[in-house]
Formats: sequence, structure tokens, C-alpha cells
Amino acid sequence: MNSKHQYVELNDGHFIPRLGFGTYKLQEVPNSKTTEATEIAIEAGYHHIDCAYVYQVEEEVGLAIRRKIIDGTVKREDIFYTSKLWSTFHRPELVQSCLERSLRKLHFDYVDLYLIHLPISMKAMEKCKDAGLAKSIGVSNFNRRQLEMILNKPGLRYKPVCNQVECHVYHNQRKLLDFCKSKDIVLVAFGALGTQREKRWVDPSSPVLLDDPVLGTLAKKHKRSPALIALRYQLQRGVVVLAQSLKESEIKENIQVFDFQLTDEDMIELDGLNRNFRYLLIKSMVNHPNYPFADEY
Ligand code: NAP
Repeated sequence: MNSKHQYVELNDGHFIPRLGFGTYKLQEVPNSKTTEATEIAIEAGYHHIDCAYVYQVEEEVGLAIRRKIIDGTVKREDIFYTSKLWSTFHRPELVQSCLERSLRKLHFDYVDLYLIHLPISMKAMEKCKDAGLAKSIGVSNFNRRQLEMILNKPGLRYKPVCNQVECHVYHNQRKLLDFCKSKDIVLVAFGALGTQREKRWVDPSSPVLLDDPVLGTLAKKHKRSPALIALRYQLQRGVVVLAQSLKESEIKENIQVFDFQLTDEDMIELDGLNRNFRYLLIKSMVNHPNYPFADEY
């Protein structure tokens, strides 16, 4: 993951690695699994680690990163670490304290990217960047209207560098991606592999993304797995992509996303799979005025 083409420049001059390691896991899985998997990921070459206050594994992820720093595999500055502000800390005076709690768990001085996990205002986030506690700030799960509200806010000092949203072949976010590109905001895809289906809020009758026959045919054609086709699709559209796994074989496989290329015809075929289907609906937020998924995009 060291060569420049594996990074995307953010609108504040920092660089984000194009493949990130996702650390959300089900609560019944022991937290030590996350330490183990994160260490495997760093050894395999992932430099971008996506986490959040609410995942409740920042201590374990921090431990894995520190171990890999101590054994000389990486330096702190090689790692791009993302954390996210949880919704119970939205009051401006609480924002920095949520980040500081994350930093204490991680034993870090700063995070590389701090995201608003679910839509709210940006002002208190700017202070975290000013204080040097977050190198970059961005948002997650924002729709176009919510992004525009932030971008048009009088006195905005830092544009969000990214918008992290659910994005995969069944919901390719074409319109939101075009909008983000026009505003120099990087789209970061989560759920690119069809998410962890055991999550309690994922409808068990939802389609299994990696069983899609088109992914299967392209996987055969390129002698890769459907997972790699799904990840590669995102990279070739200029999207930064996250991939979660606790299995060594999958963690090592997913980083092969840089080793092959899809053709223009393959990309058109994959575009054709879009059906605006979401795995993550955040039903508990449906009646909230900031619910992001009621708009078309
Ligand atoms: P995901 O990356 O779409 O999918 C993970 C699933 O894919 C795992 O259950 C894993 O299954 C399977 N998988 C991984 N590599 C594979 C391979 N090579 N072959 C076959 N199967 C493979 O899931 P996600 O966790 O929902 O999203 C990724 C990350 O995005 C999260 O961990 C988190 O960091 C972030 N996220 C952010 C938000 C937000 O609101 N901002 C929301 C959701 C997620 P097994 O390991 O069980 O085989």
C-alpha cells in the first residue's frame, strides 16, 4: 500500500489510502478478535483503518496499531485512522470530548480523519481540526441536501473531506458520487461486500451480494473472487472502499484489489446491477428530521 496511486488526495491536502480495513464487528464476537484481525491487516499492508466510538473496539484497534508500531512494521504516520462522533455527543460542547475519549482509548495524539457518524452540524468539528486532534474532518451518511446545507453555511472554514456512505453494486450511489466529485469530496464506501448479514438490523431476506451471478461470472473471467470484483469496481469509480473481515484469508485476499483491472465493459455490466437497495436503513431514525435516506440521494 505504499505507492502513491493507492492514495487519494483530500481537499485539505492530506492523503487517504484507497482501501480501508473495516473494524465493525458483532457484539457477541470477542473484542480480542479485532486486535488479532487488525494486526493481520497491518501486516498484510493495509494502512487505512476505519473505526468509530460506537463500535466499542477502539481500545483493541489502538492496541493492534501500537503493537505494529513497536515491532517496526509501521510508524504512526503510515497509518490513516478514522474515528467517528457518535450521536449522543452532538451538542457542540461535547464534540471534542467524544474525540478525546477515543484518543485516550487509542493512546494516540490525533486521528487522521474524524467523521460525524450521522447527520448534524460541522462547527464543533472544525474546532477538533484547529486543536490538532483530527488532521481531517468529514461526514458520514449525509445526503445531497445535508451536504449542501454544510457547504452553504456562512463562515464554513473546512469543507468535509469525505462522505462515508453505504455503497455497493446494488446501491452504487451514482448521483451522490457525481455530486461529491463536483464538490471535491471523496466518497468512502461501506458495505461494499454486502455488509455483515448477521447484524440485527439487516433483513435476513435481503439479497446476498457476493452470490450475485454477474459478480460470479466476472470473478471467473478475471480468476478472482466475487469480493475482489465488488471492491475493484469501487476503486475504478474513484471511490475509497472499506472491507471488513476477521478471517486472515479474506483480509489477505482483499488487498489483492490492486493487482488487476476491470474493463470498461465489465464496469458497465456492474453499473447495471444497481437497484438502489440499502442493507442499512437505520430504522430507529426514520422519524427524525435529519433522517438521511428519505431523499432520492
Ligand atoms: P462489508 O465490508 O461490506 O462486508 C463484510 C463481510 O464480507 C464480512 O461479513 C465478511 O464475511 C465478508 N467478506 C469479507 N471479505 C471477503 C472475501 N474476500 N470473500 C468473501 N466474503 C468476504 O461490511 P461492513 O462491516 O458492513 O462494512 C465495512 C466497514 O465499514 C465496517 O466494518 C465499518 O468500519 C464501516 N461502516 C460504517 C458505517 C457508517 O455508518 N459510517 C456503517 C457500516 C459500516 P466473513 O468474514 O464472515 O466471511
